[in-house]
Amino acid sequence: MQTLIMSSKEAVQSAAKEFIQFVNRGVSPYHVVEECKRRLLAAGFIELKESEQWDIRPSSKYFVTRNYSSLIAFAVGGKFLPGNGFSMIGAHTDSPCLRVKPRSKRSKQGCVQVGVECYGGGIWNTWFDRDLTVAGRVIVKSGSQLVQRLVHVPRPVLRIPHLAIHLQRDINDSFGPNKENHLVPILATAVQEELETGSASSGDASAANNTAEKHPPALLKLLCSELSMEPNHLVDFELCLADTQPAALGGVYEEFIYSPRLDNLHSCYCALQGLLESCSGESLSKDPNVRMITLYDNEEVGSESAQGAQSNLTELILSRVSSCPSNLTAFQQAAPLSFMISADMAHACHPNYTEKHEENHRPAFHKGPVIKFNSNQRYATTAVTAAIVREVASRAQVPLQDVMVRNDSPCGTTIGPILAARLGVPVVDIGAPQLSMHSIREMCCTSSVLQSTTLFKGFFEHFPSVRSSLVVD
Ligand code: ZN
Repeated sequence: MQTLIMSSKEAVQSAAKEFIQFVNRGVSPYHVVEECKRRLLAAGFIELKESEQWDIRPSSKYFVTRNYSSLIAFAVGGKFLPGNGFSMIGAHTDSPCLRVKPRSKRSKQGCVQVGVECYGGGIWNTWFDRDLTVAGRVIVKSGSQLVQRLVHVPRPVLRIPHLAIHLQRDINDSFGPNKENHLVPILATAVQEELETGSASSGDASAANNTAEKHPPALLKLLCSELSMEPNHLVDFELCLADTQPAALGGVYEEFIYSPRLDNLHSCYCALQGLLESCSGESLSKDPNVRMITLYDNEEVGSESAQGAQSNLTELILSRVSSCPSNLTAFQQAAPLSFMISADMAHACHPNYTEKHEENHRPAFHKGPVIKFNSNQRYATTAVTAAIVREVASRAQVPLQDVMVRNDSPCGTTIGPILAARLGVPVVDIGAPQLSMHSIREMCCTSSVLQSTTLFKGFFEHFPSVRSSLVVD
């Protein structure tokens, strides 16, 4: 139980630092997929396209992306046969953020502003007075082709200033910004823009009929200079606003991680790392299962999209990997033998709001990943799936905690119940404890990275034998 808590501080800190690099690069779902792809290719995974025919071989490793914002990676066990199970860990690549509107040009009071839309359920108050930038993907016309390019401006270019307390005396009692009127970031002053470009942009994009007229020229110029391209080649984009302050170790003992997007890049990173580490030894060659991570976009808005957890993506990929001309029910046979860890962050009990947690279910830092229970199926955990993960955790020597919300409290949900229903696969909901969930800057403990990674690696290595020990039916 104490093994990992006491495990070398060096190992804990180095795992945390590696995660910090990952989260700093994962500024948008597209960048998360890009970073996962880079690490998978470096580890010998082969990229597959959904539109092509596949030739899946035992002891081989593959990945596929959809919309460049969701990614499924898998390593086929050396003993895999069609009809065998899938050992899966699912997480999500998206986080609540502000996104640039399709017609973003705005100007008021001599300020050049950028219209933004709220994506997901962020704590929008925390986006005030932060040094913001933009990151995402741009569709570029290149000759006769439309090409996607990723962009991340590495300096603060936008800011949503607070209104001074003198002009709103009740701000400390009730700060509720209007999401349309008060969350509009400032990019420049009109007077400076005129000096730099020779013309001041009008603030009206309602009649614009090309990209150049829809957005502030200064924003387009910035994107074009980042991508070394001409403005008339820019067709469209999806841009997220992001904090420019990088994630950092914190606390007097450096036992915390202060970071954007912990929900849910912590789980994405630990799932990926668990898979990669599990494939580096000999165990994959003896594995009868397929080891898989499924990282989805759009969880924060309900998962209902072509690339979300509600899409057909997972089912199509599982059935393609299972498919076998001599066994037409291979996928149906595989489902009950499979298992998914739905990995999403959990709420640590807040020391200033302890009453918000049920008294016997108060997850704490350093005490391990948290199993989430909810009889009303906001989480997919059952006694069987919890027992399986407890057995895996004990073999991997990782401590676990339990959480259930109070009866008078709202309960979050995850991709867990969605995938359990869609696939008919047993699912457990698990997450590392964190504070400040959905703030622009969240907080977790350093040990949670190594604990989750070790649990996930242990899951890939031990699940087939734990599953074969299960007698339920
Ligand atoms: Zn989440």
